[in-house]
Amino acid sequence: MRLGTGVHQLMGVMLGSSRYSKYIQSPAWSTNPARLAELRLSGGRCRLCNRRERLTVHHRTYVRLGQESVSDLTTLCYDCHEMVTAELRKRKYSRKRLPPIIPVGAPMERQLIDSTSGWRHVVL
Ligand SMILES: [Zn+2]
Repeated sequence: MRLGTGVHQLMGVMLGSSRYSKYIQSPAWSTNPARLAELRLSGGRCRLCNRRERLTVHHRTYVRLGQESVSDLTTLCYDCHEMVTAELRKRKYSRKRLPPIIPVGAPMERQLIDSTSGWRHVVL
């Protein structure tokens, strides 16, 4: 069974860590009892489109990364996994707020993007 490494690499980037990417490619993940149980419970089919090809196991939550419960996981085909990942990414970035508009004539400020906490203002 082929793993959707592209999607998983993207999730690693989203989580800001290579730990996830390394884990997903490890024997610990491929033999994870919760992962294997979820594949069995799904009947070896994508839970969104029912396809049997290119299955991946999606993390619904990362709170138990490495010691997942079956309920943390969902079987998805590669295409559905990409769609879900794109939707999650969209939601993540939609929470970021644009900075307030600087009034004309206000002291010069430079606005920087802080990738960890959103917008930040630095007075020069
Ligand atoms: Zn699917």
